[in-house]
Amino acid sequence: MAKPKRDIDPVEAKTAILDYCKRKGALVAGVADLDAINRICPPGHRPADMMPRVKSVISLGVGGQTQGAWSVPAKALGYFGSTETRGYTIAYGAAFYIENKYGVPSIYCPPDMDPDAGPRVPLQSLKVHAELAGIGARSLAGDILLHPEFGYMYFASVFTELELEPDAPLETNPCPAPSCVSMYKSIGRTPCMKFCPVQCLDGEVDTETGAQKVMRYDMAACAEMTQQFETVPATLMDAMKAEDEAAREDALFDPDNKILWYKLSAGSGGLFAQCFECMRVCPIATKAPMADPILRYDAAREERERAEAMPKAAAE
Ligand code: SF4
Ligand code: SF4
Repeated sequence: MAKPKRDIDPVEAKTAILDYCKRKGALVAGVADLDAINRICPPGHRPADMMPRVKSVISLGVGGQTQGAWSVPAKALGYFGSTETRGYTIAYGAAFYIENKYGVPSIYCPPDMDPDAGPRVPLQSLKVHAELAGIGARSLAGDILLHPEFGYMYFASVFTELELEPDAPLETNPCPAPSCVSMYKSIGRTPCMKFCPVQCLDGEVDTETGAQKVMRYDMAACAEMTQQFETVPATLMDAMKAEDEAAREDALFDPDNKILWYKLSAGSGGLFAQCFECMRVCPIATKAPMADPILRYDAAREERERAEAMPKAAAE
């Protein structure tokens, strides 16, 4: 087993690793408190269940699609709306970065489902990691994490045997936004609840403080709408149980089902959690100060120009 390459300054290491993630495209990155993860996550789904000597969990978030994407029809957004693979690529790179730079074992945490627990139970909760790392807070939209500055993001995690100081969860939750509280006062629902196509969101807002009181989420109803891969066995079952050739043909060649075969053969991400309607109407997802990729690009360019101008100014 390789040994750590040199004396490691954990403060320098944390800064270098989080900087790596941001340089590669993460909008935010942080370290989650491992003890807190162990208190929240059940046995079998704690980081040490995957990496026995894990000491730190790093979480990072990437932004969603282009600004224009929010205006396309649901059937198109379903094909390209999600950008989580960018986050996974950065996490993969960060695991290699830590091993190469510090000689300490690290892994990319798979975002996938637990083969022993079925298709709705993940191996690890990337959401818990991100929440505890202080890069997102639970919203009334089925606990989707939102960030006050960057809005709606996708998250990825890295586990490492390098010990890093944990960050704290966000102190404030941007959800519900003031306009959502106003809507709730008038109709008893927030935009995400109102516009969810299968009505799987419900909850209560404290109208005095504007804070979340209760969040209710019918995960099965959301999954029926969004996890299209789950319908494949039912379709095959219908075909097997069909009474005659014509009924079997109907089950397999029905236009809705044919599109499933298309998505499977194309390896389309459209088979996974591709309903964006609660986020399309969410003012934090779409209008948080840096949710808009055009604004983010402009801000990054201005910062780059400022940084480039500094040495010149110092030399003058
Ligand atoms: S993803 Fe779609 S189905 Fe699920 S809560 Fe959001 S709007 Fe509803
Ligand atoms: S629309 Fe967004 S901010 Fe408003 S309640 Fe729903 S998740 Fe929260």
